[in-house]
Amino acid sequence: MLEYFKTLSKMYNVSLENILSIALNRYGILMDDIEDNRIRFNLKLNNSKKETFFAVCVNTYEDSKFVLKDNILYLENNPIGTVDNIEKDTCTSTYFRNNKKAITFNSNSRSKCVGCKFCGTYSLTDDDSIDFSTKDKIINFYQELLEENKIESMNKVEDVTICTGCFETEDDLVKHLLTVKEAFNEMNFNGRLNYIGSQLRDYDKIKMLSKEIGDFGIYLTIEKFLDREKFMRKEKASLTLDKAKEFLNYCSSIGITTTFLYILGLEDLDTIKKYFNYLKDSINKFPIIQVFQDYTKEQENYRCEQGKDIEYYLKARKIIEDIFKDTNLNPKLWECFRSLYYDENKEKVKCKKMII
Ligand code: SF4
Repeated sequence: MLEYFKTLSKMYNVSLENILSIALNRYGILMDDIEDNRIRFNLKLNNSKKETFFAVCVNTYEDSKFVLKDNILYLENNPIGTVDNIEKDTCTSTYFRNNKKAITFNSNSRSKCVGCKFCGTYSLTDDDSIDFSTKDKIINFYQELLEENKIESMNKVEDVTICTGCFETEDDLVKHLLTVKEAFNEMNFNGRLNYIGSQLRDYDKIKMLSKEIGDFGIYLTIEKFLDREKFMRKEKASLTLDKAKEFLNYCSSIGITTTFLYILGLEDLDTIKKYFNYLKDSINKFPIIQVFQDYTKEQENYRCEQGKDIEYYLKARKIIEDIFKDTNLNPKLWECFRSLYYDENKEKVKCKKMII
């Protein structure tokens, strides 16, 4: 398999380390004597100077060729890197990205949200049952968080992204976003407040939020283009792609930072090409593309036939790069823990035409 990855590396002009990182997310790892089905760790691949954070599934895909033993990661029998800070991956209420300049805020217990077939957060241990219903509760929590992490003030934080479980109603969500903003205002937060989800629909409410929040981002969870109703909670699936495009157009037109999230591995390359093209001009930020992981053994059944092979992910990357090559939109490495991009020098996408 290592030889195959080396060949792909030459064919697609993507570093071997980047391909190994994609493969690790796609296949997960095998480990003995462990009950957890998901762990997180820092990995330093051989020939790489940097350590990268991973959260991967364990023993959920039996044919994985990645084995972790005594802190060494093997691909088949080849040692390919060293691992440290191994811990069980739980569903936490906050975590940092980008050298603690960005925070992901799971403020409404994602671990209790169920209904999307590709989602795995509800199979994780819930470390996110914290009450964030009032301004004071949010402030108290964040004061402790900053202290524990030796961060002087919220004005050192550039992005807070709310990525959480569904709310009862859209109004509850709107109220929550305003409460968070109010709390952060008191803490001198000057960065961007982003919402990941698809529960905001009403244009008047969005306009009001944009005015109140100022620097506001909406990252729409499209996740999958076809058969959405078979895969997702009905609140999410009720957003058709035509409506999603109209929604993204509207958000972009009033100055909101606008993009969408997509789970890569569930549908074929023609579908990816068609719909990334369809949505390209409606966003002002590069899409966040997540490699589909098997939180459970059964989830491998949702992976499309092409998605079983690593070359699919590299082809998809080229297709998407080609689509965005005439824009100034680029992926951010720190934004996604299971993305297609791991090399610093690839953050600025260098697009090459590729015949698929
Ligand atoms: S909305 Fe779906 S993907 Fe999001 S947390 Fe709930 S079940 Fe998971």
